[in-house]
Amino acid sequence: MMECMWCERKDIEETTKDCYWILPDGTDAVEILQIPALLCKDCGSYLTDEMNHEIDMALYARELPQGKREITHQELMSAPYRNIFELKK
Ligand SMILES: [Zn+2]
Repeated sequence: MMECMWCERKDIEETTKDCYWILPDGTDAVEILQIPALLCKDCGSYLTDEMNHEIDMALYARELPQGKREITHQELMSAPYRNIFELKK
């Protein structure tokens, strides 16, 4: 049983949410679809801090498909990692 992060309710449901996200370099935004989220009858639907963090990290670490303005959460989490070692040369 999950509890709401914001209020005392304990009858939280799982849902998904579509959210715009600013890319780490700040130049653009991407719409991330079907993000696992929580639904509270009092507070509405929202992402957990853990999910926010997971998406921030994924956008920083992973190679997004070129030119796509939207990506599903599942596509993002299965995208290949950037070759960060190239940057250190
Ligand atoms: Zn709530």
